[in-house]
Amino acid sequence: MPGPTLVLTGGVHGDEPAGARAAEQILQWPILKGRLVVIPRANVPGLKAGKRLMPGAKEEESNLNRNFPKSGGENDAKGELATELWRFVSSQDPDWLVDLHEGYDFHQLEPETVGSSIIDSNSEASDAAAPAMLAAVNASITNPKRSFVNLGPPVDGSLARAAAEQLGASTMILETTSRDQPLSLRTRQHRTMVRELLVKLGMLAAEPAAGMVTPPALQGPRVAIYDDNGVGGGQGGLEATVAMIPESLAWRVGAADVQNGALSQFDLVIFPGGSGSSEAKALGEKGRGEVRRFVEGGGGYVGICAGAYLSASNYEWSLALSNQRTFAEMREIPGEGSKSMWYRGDSATVSMELSDAGKRIFGELPGEIPVVYHNGPVIPPLGPGEVPSYEVLAWFRSEVSRYEPQKGTMTGTPAMISAHYGKGRVLAISPHPEATKSLRPMLAKGLQWAAGK
Ligand SMILES: [Zn+2]
Repeated sequence: MPGPTLVLTGGVHGDEPAGARAAEQILQWPILKGRLVVIPRANVPGLKAGKRLMPGAKEEESNLNRNFPKSGGENDAKGELATELWRFVSSQDPDWLVDLHEGYDFHQLEPETVGSSIIDSNSEASDAAAPAMLAAVNASITNPKRSFVNLGPPVDGSLARAAAEQLGASTMILETTSRDQPLSLRTRQHRTMVRELLVKLGMLAAEPAAGMVTPPALQGPRVAIYDDNGVGGGQGGLEATVAMIPESLAWRVGAADVQNGALSQFDLVIFPGGSGSSEAKALGEKGRGEVRRFVEGGGGYVGICAGAYLSASNYEWSLALSNQRTFAEMREIPGEGSKSMWYRGDSATVSMELSDAGKRIFGELPGEIPVVYHNGPVIPPLGPGEVPSYEVLAWFRSEVSRYEPQKGTMTGTPAMISAHYGKGRVLAISPHPEATKSLRPMLAKGLQWAAGK
């Protein structure tokens, strides 16, 4: 269908990952008319290095977004990458160019930064579109100082300015803010603004609201990694683990994505370490229901440390995906007062050993395996007459403790368990195998098992 040509770029600055990820996700949206041309990873060397400036470039050419044709100058770009990008973008004859970026702080709190803004080239069309885009992205922002504002025009030498001046396109730079905000939130904000624009241009249907759409025909698993409130880290190691599985995909999801039904787009969800109760609180009743329904319907669940508390059955907030409990009650410690038994101190290395069931999933890894442990759940024996709804995949063969009542309660208890919940598979892992590079191939097999692939 005839319609506008919109060029969408992400990853021009290598330390701004949300734009690249959002552009890869938007690439999957069903377009009704016109052409959506997506360059999700414009600066591959920069993204690989995680650096704003291009590795190995001459100093005066190292900021890719200053290398495009300047105001009043010749119509040429500087350096190989900008020259190629400019040649390609010009050849598309775009009506629109939208470039996804990230600032390091909120513009309203730190005015010298451009975080959380739409930098608009002030064409009639872009001026008309910006207010609705701002309203859409600001609708879910509760702190007014973090809300998006309209800035402009784009800086001289930027792709957005060059495309406006030299190609007559309506252009915008959409800036999220990386400070204190999970990647899933920033990519969602990029998606929200672009969606609003595409709907306005008639390129995308208003309903159903396009959110996360994963490519359907992947051989490997489509993995959602929760990165929102309650997570303490470890997403990078998990992404590196997923990347070992051929034709797999790992996207970050936040509580709002889960609540909006995004899990239907994935084969597996991973809840990393941090705080199980905080992850549960962020998900809320609705999000927890979505996770349970996802697994019940055939999805995979992997909980690591906090995520393995989340799948337990002994808290009012936990998901009860199997009947494991955790040794976490309060005990009176002489001279220290009332202490909860989940806390065993700083991160430490313990050993675990695979059971026969574990070897069927993880492969033949004999003997004791050293693994990082950081206050993951210790699963006590069930009471008389109780039957476990889980299978033990590995046993702890050593332990750490901080308080007297913890001594002897960890060695010989399950380090990893599996369970079936409805049609889905659950893998609950107390320690942190993702933190050790040499254990990631083992963990990757566990992810594949949980994903059913
Ligand atoms: Zn940038």
